[in-house]
Amino acid sequence: MLKRLLLLSGIELIALALLAAIPLAVSNSYALGLLTLLAIYGILLIGLDVTVGYLGQVNLAQAAFLGLGAYAAGLSVSLLGFGMLEALAMSMLVGLILGGLLAFPALRLEGPQFALATLSFSALSFTVLNEWEGLTGGAQGLSLDRPALFGQAFNAPGFYWLCLLFLALVWIAMRNLLSSQWGRAFEALRDSPIATDAMGVGTFRHKVAGFAFGSSLGGLAGGLYAFNFQYLQPQSFTYDLMVILLLGVVLGGRKSLWGAFFGASLIVLLPNLLSNRLLFEIISALGLLLAVITGIRGLQKKSTQPFQAIAPVMAMGMLVVGGFLVENTENWRKAIFALMLFSVVVGLPDGIMGFAARYLIRLFRIDPPKLPAAAALDDVLPPKNASNSVLLELKDLKRYFGGVKAVDGISMTVRTGHVHGLIGPNGSGKSTAVNVISGLYAPTSGEILLKGRALPKGSLFKVARAGVSRTFQNLQLFGELSALDNVMLALKGAYRIPLPLVLLGLGRTEETRAQSAALALLELVGLKEQARTRAKDLTYGSQRFLEIARALARKPELLILDEPAAGLANPDVNDLVKIIKAIKQHGIAIILIEHHMHVVSELCDVVTVIDGGQVIAEGTPEEVKRDPKVIKAYLGVANEEAETNTVPLAV
Ligand code: ADP
Ligand code: MG
Repeated sequence: MLKRLLLLSGIELIALALLAAIPLAVSNSYALGLLTLLAIYGILLIGLDVTVGYLGQVNLAQAAFLGLGAYAAGLSVSLLGFGMLEALAMSMLVGLILGGLLAFPALRLEGPQFALATLSFSALSFTVLNEWEGLTGGAQGLSLDRPALFGQAFNAPGFYWLCLLFLALVWIAMRNLLSSQWGRAFEALRDSPIATDAMGVGTFRHKVAGFAFGSSLGGLAGGLYAFNFQYLQPQSFTYDLMVILLLGVVLGGRKSLWGAFFGASLIVLLPNLLSNRLLFEIISALGLLLAVITGIRGLQKKSTQPFQAIAPVMAMGMLVVGGFLVENTENWRKAIFALMLFSVVVGLPDGIMGFAARYLIRLFRIDPPKLPAAAALDDVLPPKNASNSVLLELKDLKRYFGGVKAVDGISMTVRTGHVHGLIGPNGSGKSTAVNVISGLYAPTSGEILLKGRALPKGSLFKVARAGVSRTFQNLQLFGELSALDNVMLALKGAYRIPLPLVLLGLGRTEETRAQSAALALLELVGLKEQARTRAKDLTYGSQRFLEIARALARKPELLILDEPAAGLANPDVNDLVKIIKAIKQHGIAIILIEHHMHVVSELCDVVTVIDGGQVIAEGTPEEVKRDPKVIKAYLGVANEEAETNTVPLAV
């Protein structure tokens, strides 16, 4: 029960107990200092891993947040007379707010530009801390006293335990966060930001919140750092530290709490490692051995390129040889870090923890917890609309790409309860039309109304929220997530518990309910047995069906299927027809883009035919099949295509 309550597995509890017991057995104050730093850096790296690991962005600002948090704590004690807990809360708040403010503009940028934005922020905060002498004491530094907590002054072991307690709390909070909708969203937005938005989960807002959260952990670590050293200097929070922090996260292993912990141990031990030549040689030799083993294994399994195997071996070899040649390894620290970072990035992309996890998983086979029973489908799908009323109206919709008039004035009406076919030769503008409706592209001109109200333009996220859901012609699944998680991510209205309560672990019941709802949808498309399979490991046909289940999780009023049968084998096409019929029976309107004419005939109530971005015919499948304009449009395309059964519009 205690275990469940804390959400810590056995190994984590044992590790925590061991760490907590050390000061009782060892009274070496130097060792205790290292352990305290380990706890502080553990918190710092867990925070950094949110951006570097989970959001997949190179964040160069965490050292700055450590500094800002440290000064915030120091100043609130010395100027405002805050106690320990208030000061630490202040550090977190400063991290949270400044992190949010930085994230807003920075996360609109991608890759290297984002890294540069965080780098500028670091330079800016260093300058402020250094130059605002009236407040921070500038380069002279700031001395502060460690305040008492509940009237008790801290001795060294006491403060260590406090830091360890915070590490444990942060660990639990992260665990809770990652096993909630937030954790899924972090995975999803790296796999496909487009689909994340299209499933009504705002990519941008999740990135900003994640970054702000990680920065607030940086701030908290800073507060503890300040009370640990009781003396602060801006120079402590510069590029050097930033490189070491990145090394810690990457070497320890991204997307892993244990990885952050190992990374922190490494950072704490590095100075000792560099000042003791024997230790340095031993560690370098071990690194070389590791590089050789992983290199050979990778080559055997053909999972690595020769370069990926050889480069780390050479880099680690340079460390071993260089260790004998140079006079003082400490003077070479930057070069040493660079070589280590290079070796890990090239040779062990998942870090030491990722490497170890592969073996540990085999040792401790842990079965995932049992899934609940599937919910009733009627509770998961949206309530039925009255049939045959106007649902979606397009009025003279246009979308140009430069000179290409992809959609050139389409007007059409989709009614509730209908399967509305959208057909036309390749390149006639079908995908563009639904991309404009669903908000992937903004229209060049024209109107889109859902139930008489204007649909938001040019925002997948807002259109998804308004009740339109879609699949993609080119699959946009979250490959790393299980089939179940793919559907759970999209579930509308399933997650109501606010973030602070999720961190406390109060989101469990909600998760179980979401699981059973998602299972009902997987059952509908025949994938219930594969609920735990990663999306990228499913067969192509199953992936197509999974996208439909995921789109349904939005409880849409209108479902848009862009060529769901593309690339499917015949038995799968038959299953698809059954699935679409079942969806129709639940009263959900569908826009179906489809090439197989027998599928169109079997499913569609109305068909709109477009060519060259314009509507050329509309009516029942039988009517449009006989329409001379339609026949001409299809015969206009290359004959071979007509034979490949993609356009079997038999004349
Ligand atoms: P369909 O789905 O009917 O096969 P599309 O809507 O994909 O056709 O394409 C219609 C036309 O618009 C094509 O000529 C295509 O090259 C062009 N097009 C589609 N998307 C883009 C884009 N993002 N940029 C430029 N041209 C595009
Ligand atoms: Mg298309």
